[in-house]
Amino acid sequence: MRVHNFAAGPAALPIEVLERAQSELTDFNGLGMSVMEISHRSKNFVAVASESEALLRELLGVPEGYTVLFLQGGATGQFAAIPMNLTSPGATVDYVNTGSWSKKAIAEAKKYADVRVIADEKDSNYSTTPAAESLVLTEGAAYLHYTANETIGGVEFPYVPDSGDVPLVADFSSTIMSRPVDVSAFGLIYAGAQKNLGPSGITVVIVRDDLVGHARPETPSVLDYAAMAGADSMLNTPPTFGWYLLGLNLQWIRDNGGLPGMEQRNERKARTLYDAIDTLDFYSNPVEPASRSWMNVPFLLADDSLDKEFLAQAGAAGLTNLSGHRSVGGMRASIYNATSQESVDALVSFLKEFERTHA
Ligand code: PMP
Repeated sequence: MRVHNFAAGPAALPIEVLERAQSELTDFNGLGMSVMEISHRSKNFVAVASESEALLRELLGVPEGYTVLFLQGGATGQFAAIPMNLTSPGATVDYVNTGSWSKKAIAEAKKYADVRVIADEKDSNYSTTPAAESLVLTEGAAYLHYTANETIGGVEFPYVPDSGDVPLVADFSSTIMSRPVDVSAFGLIYAGAQKNLGPSGITVVIVRDDLVGHARPETPSVLDYAAMAGADSMLNTPPTFGWYLLGLNLQWIRDNGGLPGMEQRNERKARTLYDAIDTLDFYSNPVEPASRSWMNVPFLLADDSLDKEFLAQAGAAGLTNLSGHRSVGGMRASIYNATSQESVDALVSFLKEFERTHA
C-alpha cells in the first residue's frame, strides 16, 4: 500500500515512474541488464542522457544560448560553484536572504566573494519576500542570487526579481518544474533533483552561455561549468540511475500537461490546503499570503503539546512525513508535483477530524 507522502525531499515520486522503472529494472531496452549496469558512455545510456536534456529544455522552454548541466554535489555544491565560476577573487556579489537556504548559500559564497545582503527578511522572521522595488543592487555586483522557494520556511517569491544587466542567479531546488517560468530572465538556475526532478544525487544547472568559461583556476573540474559542458556532464561517471529516473519523471510531467498542467494541479492543491489552514481555528501558517509557497506548507497547531499525537494519528491514517524541519519544529506538508489532489484532500479531512476531536 502506498501512503500519502508529504516528505520535503527526497520526496514522493509518481507511481507511474516507479512502476516503469520497476518493469525495466532487470532488463533495460532488451539488453539483459539494468540501466545501472551499463557504461555511461554506451549508446543506450547516452540516449537516456540526451533525451532527458531535450525534454527538460522543451518543458521549461530553455532558450537557445543556455547550457544544461547534470552535476553532482547537490544544490549545496552549487552554493560554492556559483561564486567560483562567476567571479574573480575580490568580486562583490548580491544576495537576498529569505531564510534557511538563503543563509546557507550566503555563508558558502562568503568563502569566495564579498557578499552584500541587499535584502534580509529577518524583521518578519522570514515569513515574507522583499518588495520588488526595494531590491537595489550594489554597483559592480557580479550577480544577484535569491532562493525562489524556501523549502523550510515555505516562502516563495511571487515575482522574478529585476536585476537589470546583472546576471540573476536562482536556487530553484524546491520549485523547479512546478509551474512555467521565463528562463530568459536568468543568468543561472540550479536545483537539486530530489523534489520535483527525480531522486537525490543529481543537480541540474541551467546557465547562460556567456557565464560559462570564467571559472577560477582552482575550481574543481567537476564543478567547472565549461569543463562539464565540454564533456556533456560526463567528465566523471554520472549518477546514471538517477539521471534515468529524472528522464522518466520528465516524461510523466509531459504526459500530465507539462508545466501548465503542473501549475493547474499545484495551484489547486495549495489553495485547498491553505484554505483549510486559514478556515480551521486549530492551525496557522505564518507566511504572508502573497509569498506562500505552493510546494512547502508549514503549519502550527494551536497547542504544540499535541504535536506528537498529531503525527502519530496522521501516520496511522497513512499520512506521513508531516513533521516540520528540525530547525523550526511544527508541521510541514510538502506537496510537490507528484503529490496528488487526493493526498491533499486526505490531509484536509484529517486536519478537520483532529481539530474536531482535540480542540
Ligand atoms: N536549496 C534548497 C531550497 C533546498 O531545499 C535544499 C535541500 N533541501 C538545498 C538547497 C540543498 O540541497 P542539497 O541537499 O541537494 O545540497
